[in-house]
Amino acid sequence: MKGIVNTWLECVHCGKQYDLEQVRYNCECGGILDVKRDLSKIDGKKLKQLWESRWGMKRGPLSSGVWRYKELILDVAEEYIVTRQEGNTRLYPAGKAAEYAGIRNFLLKHEGENPTGSFKDRGMTCGATAAKIYDATSVACASTGNTSASMASYAAISGMKSIIFIPEGKIAYGKLAQALAFGGITLQIKGNFDDGMELVQEVCAKLNIYLLNSINPFRIEGQKAIGYEILQQLDWEVPDWFVIPGGNLGNNSALSKGLQELYELGIISKIPRIAVIQAEGSNPLARMWKNKTGYVPLKNPDTIATAIKIGNPVSWEKAMRGLEWCNGVVEDVTEQEIMDAKAMVDAAGIGAEPASCCSVAGAKKLVDMGIISPDAKVVGILTGNILKDPDAVVGYHKDTLRDMGIKGVYANKPHVIEPTLEAVKAAISGK
Ligand SMILES: *Cc1c(COP(=O)(O)O)cnc(C)c1O
Ligand SMILES: [Zn+2]
Repeated sequence: MKGIVNTWLECVHCGKQYDLEQVRYNCECGGILDVKRDLSKIDGKKLKQLWESRWGMKRGPLSSGVWRYKELILDVAEEYIVTRQEGNTRLYPAGKAAEYAGIRNFLLKHEGENPTGSFKDRGMTCGATAAKIYDATSVACASTGNTSASMASYAAISGMKSIIFIPEGKIAYGKLAQALAFGGITLQIKGNFDDGMELVQEVCAKLNIYLLNSINPFRIEGQKAIGYEILQQLDWEVPDWFVIPGGNLGNNSALSKGLQELYELGIISKIPRIAVIQAEGSNPLARMWKNKTGYVPLKNPDTIATAIKIGNPVSWEKAMRGLEWCNGVVEDVTEQEIMDAKAMVDAAGIGAEPASCCSVAGAKKLVDMGIISPDAKVVGILTGNILKDPDAVVGYHKDTLRDMGIKGVYANKPHVIEPTLEAVKAAISGK
C-alpha cells in the first residue's frame, strides 16, 4: 500500500486481520479495527534516538508533533502527508488548578493549542493522509464540533470536499464557525450525535466518501502522539497518572495503545495509570465500569461539555482494553464540578473548553476519593481551546447558567459602571 510495510488492520473483537489495500472501518463481525505492526521488527533504542534527533526541526512534515513519531503513526512517504505542523503543544504547571485538585506535581498538556484548537488535529492529520493514500476526494464525519472544525481545515488544505453532520441544538459557536469558515458542507440533522454517527456511516458506505470519525483507525494512530510528545517533553520519565476526558472514547484508547507500544519496545519501563473522566449526564463507560455490567448505550446524553455529549461511544471496547492494560479507572463528574474546575483552569491563566476540564474535575475527585495520591506525578490532558465555547464561559461568569443547574461559584462578573474615576476606584477595590 503506497510503500507502507509491516502494517495491517486487526479486529479488536475477534482478531481477524485485513491488509491495507481496501478501505475498511469495521470487521466482518462488526468489531472496530486497530492499526497493527510487528513491533519485533522495530529497534526501540534506535527509534527513540531518531525521535530525539527530530526534536526542534524547523520545517517540513517531520517538524509536526505527530509525524515526528511517524514510525509508530503511519510510516508513509512524506509526499502523502497532509499536515499543519500540528502538535508541539505546551505542557504547563497547573498552578491554581493544581492547588484546586490537591496535587503538588500536576501538569496540563494543552491540546487546545493545536492548529484548529483541539487534539482532533492529531488524529485528523493522519486520517486526512490516509484519505489521500486511498485517493479519496470527499471526506465526512459526524461531530459535536471539534472533529468537523478539524476535518474541514485538513480537507481545505489538501483539496478535498468535506461533509459534516452536526446534531441539532447546542453546538459550541466557535466550532460551528470554523466548520463554516473552512468551507465544510454542514448538515445539521434533526437528531443527536449518536444519530449522526449512524447516518454518516451509511452515507460513506453508499456514496463512496471517506469516513473520518474516530472509528477510523488511522485517526487513533495520530492521536497516540499526545502521549509520545508528553513523554518526550518529560525526557521519557513516565508520570504516575494521565487524566483524560472521555466522549466517543477514541482519545483515551489512543493514549493507552501508544503507551503500550512504547512499553513493548522498551522505550518506557513503567506503565502509567489512566483515568478516563466522563460527564455524569453522558457516562456510559463510567456506568459500565462501576456497575461491572456489559456495555449499555445511554439514550439521551446531556452535558454542558458538548464535546463529550455522547451516549453510544464507538471506541468503548478499545477503551476497556486499554484501561485493563494500565490498571486504569473511570470516573464521572457533575456539571458543577466541570465548570468549577474550568473556572480554575481559566483563572490559572491557561484556559480550556468545558469538556477539557473534566481532567481537572476528575483529578480532584480521585484525590478526594484517595485513588490518586497528592504526591503522585499527574498529567491532565486539556483537549480543547477556551475560545471554542465562549457562551459557556460568559454564562458561568455572569451566573446565567442556573437553569442548567450550574452556579457561578467562582464567577468573575463584569461590572457596569458610570464613566467616572470614583466608579472605577470602587470597582477595582472590590466595593
Ligand atoms: C472530541 C473531544 C473530546 C472527547 O474525545 P473522545 O476521543 O471522543 O473521547 C473531549 N474534549 C474535546 C474538547 C473534544 O473535542
Ligand atoms: Zn472481528
